[in-house]
Amino acid sequence: MPTNGRHAVGAGALLAILRDGQPRTRGELARLTGLSRSTVSQRLDALIGSHWVVEDEGAISSGGRPASMFTFNGGARVVLAADLGATRARLAVLDVGLNVLAEQVADLPVDLGPEPVLGAVAASLRDLLATAGRDPAQVCGVGIGLPGPVEHRTGRPVNPPIMPGWDGFPVPERLRELLAERLAEWPGDGSGERPGDRLVEGSGDRLGELPGAPVLVDNDVNVMALGEHWAARPAVDHLIYIKIGTGIGCGIISGGRLHRGARGAAGDVGHIRVPASGAPCRCGNTGCLEAVAGGASMAAALRAAGADARGSKDVVALMRAGDPLATRLVRQAGREVGAVMAAIVNFFNPSVIVLGGDVAEAGEQLLAGVRETIYSRSLPLATQHLGIRTGELGDRAGVVGAAVMVVEHVLDPATIDEATGERPAYVTAR
Ligand SMILES: [Zn+2]
Repeated sequence: MPTNGRHAVGAGALLAILRDGQPRTRGELARLTGLSRSTVSQRLDALIGSHWVVEDEGAISSGGRPASMFTFNGGARVVLAADLGATRARLAVLDVGLNVLAEQVADLPVDLGPEPVLGAVAASLRDLLATAGRDPAQVCGVGIGLPGPVEHRTGRPVNPPIMPGWDGFPVPERLRELLAERLAEWPGDGSGERPGDRLVEGSGDRLGELPGAPVLVDNDVNVMALGEHWAARPAVDHLIYIKIGTGIGCGIISGGRLHRGARGAAGDVGHIRVPASGAPCRCGNTGCLEAVAGGASMAAALRAAGADARGSKDVVALMRAGDPLATRLVRQAGREVGAVMAAIVNFFNPSVIVLGGDVAEAGEQLLAGVRETIYSRSLPLATQHLGIRTGELGDRAGVVGAAVMVVEHVLDPATIDEATGERPAYVTAR
């Protein structure tokens, strides 16, 4: 363990420095880390071998010899990402720099159960990988957001209300198997060179055997919070992402990291009691925020008044068409959400609140109520520089966030040290 003034510097710490994309020489890296040049060389060899770093003959050093430059190789590896909603799924292939290379939106009701849904996800991800012109050996991980509570450590759903058959299902293990089956059918297998052979020479990597290709699962709202935090980086360390769709939930970024809580249940604000309401909620209680401000409850109120509104999207469509009841419901939802968020602002002091989900597409009609209530009920110090806005990524927040979850994991210094077999050296901090 590191002691006072000393810290571990492995291959992962070198990569963390290079992730900004700036090319650097061995000498610069030695100065930045306090490691000897020979140790830096050894670490760089491991990173080049695992394709995270590329070497270029570059600048002329003072001795007149060209000094090699080392750069983060963000385009070499890809992430498979899936954002599953109640009825629709968005799937994508992204590079490690979070650029979307291929994506697809499909009707995929999550209540079909885990086997058919994960089978369809594996098939689509395989096709998208081919569309992106990439190869199974380039996949460094898979990230999934699910529309229900998930124990992140095991990737298993825990009593998800709208996902029959998913409770306790081993999502990472099963998806890994299904993907391995699909990717084993990759064209060119067994017939000589594949495109990826040039990238991962001699490794023969397949997703099913690749220790560095984790399958990570979290609930959709946490994943979207990761996506919007990435979009808002690097200025924002304390962010609340609130999703107002059929239900309501929030993801919490605290000190730049996702806060999941003791069991992964943090951010379940949809079931906080709203004072003026006695409406019954799907959780069995009455007066929950979700039961007055969720898309499902607003759609039900519109149907009771004779309108054709099946879900959240219809509520927003009716509001846009000038329906007075839909407009009133959305404005009231903004004030109810604002009242709960005001308490959260006083407690947590975020610098940004991002609104997402189908109902957030109502834009200003919703935001006005949220802002008005938060500013009138939170303490001035907490609201002084508080930004309240809709998301920057829109419908892509989930797949980008799922990829962020994977990239942060695989590029974590400890993961890199383990993957490259380069044990950290301890150096004294200067
Ligand atoms: Zn409830």
